[in-house]
Amino acid sequence: MTNIGVLALQGAVREHVVALEAPDVNIIVVKKVEQLAEIDGLVFPGGESTTMRRLINQYGFYEPLKEFAASDKPIFGTCAGAILMATEIVGQDEPHLSVMEMTVERNAFGRQRESFEAILPMKGIGDDVQAIFIRAPIIRSVGDQVEVLATYEGDIVAAREGHFLACSFHPELTEDHRMHQYFVEMVRNAFVTA
Ligand code: GLN
Repeated sequence: MTNIGVLALQGAVREHVVALEAPDVNIIVVKKVEQLAEIDGLVFPGGESTTMRRLINQYGFYEPLKEFAASDKPIFGTCAGAILMATEIVGQDEPHLSVMEMTVERNAFGRQRESFEAILPMKGIGDDVQAIFIRAPIIRSVGDQVEVLATYEGDIVAAREGHFLACSFHPELTEDHRMHQYFVEMVRNAFVTA
């Protein structure tokens, strides 16, 4: 059994739980730090990154999440979740968890495009991944070890660095759960070799 957590401090938690469902996956809604010990992989949902960060501090999650990330257990951040993972945030002095080498710009698609849908080719997944963007960030640049998985009109919107997976959009809001399946595979592989 593979145990995957969804950080449930704020944001679209329930949708991720549904998208992760698979016969041999046990999904844990993570509300307490102790639960991190029970899981092999973790999802940071979308929502509002500054609110999530405030709650991370308030509930004592900051150091435990840094340790979780350093333990080689996979993390998948969507939208605000990706912002939490970035080493740099445009216009902000400090990043949040700073675990994945990328620079993100919040709300980068502009007002006219606050929310939109696109079909994107994504490396390792397919050429028709359904992506819903809601006040989404753009990944402006990535480090040498980061593989770009998808772009939208030239901007990076999905990337992977080893056991870290991040995307600007909300794969949990569609019926297309291939990106979650891809993450489940990452967790399974990390788990097998651990
Ligand atoms: N704009 C939000 C932020 O900066 C992210 C939006 C989302 O997760 N849908 O945190």
